[in-house]
Amino acid sequence: MTSKRFVLTFHPDATGQPITYNLIKKFDIMVNIIKADVSPGEIGHLVMEMTAPAKVLKEGMEYIRQQKVECEPIDKKITCRQDLCIHCGACSAVCFAGALTMKRDSAELLFEPEKCVVCELCLKACPLKLFSIDLG
Ligand code: SF4
Ligand code: SF4
Repeated sequence: MTSKRFVLTFHPDATGQPITYNLIKKFDIMVNIIKADVSPGEIGHLVMEMTAPAKVLKEGMEYIRQQKVECEPIDKKITCRQDLCIHCGACSAVCFAGALTMKRDSAELLFEPEKCVVCELCLKACPLKLFSIDLG
């Protein structure tokens, strides 16, 4: 079994197929939706983790692309030098995925890498340049 995260981009003219339902029913892929922002007639994004044998994952990706939906694996990883952080909050303000938030009680930065979609916005936002990309 292989688990991998993907970013799906839905264009307004995508077929409207129930993609996640078909991935589960037709391909027997385990699907875990991490973040969804999809509305009819607009460009939408879905971040999800798929788990299945590698060959089946490939078939699932091909199926998604046949529905006019872009499907890109997330291979990169963001790392943060949190030991040097001054908790200014600039990175949390740009992190739409909710991977970077300020703790309510202490106003300290909380980084939850499992929510990261590697949009790279925090790299530019941090005044101390504490973020970097790990290409694995
Ligand atoms: S790369 Fe994007 S999603 Fe990941 S922590 Fe930075 S701003 Fe958030
Ligand atoms: S932008 Fe940099 S210094 Fe500011 S809270 Fe984020 S990691 Fe810390």
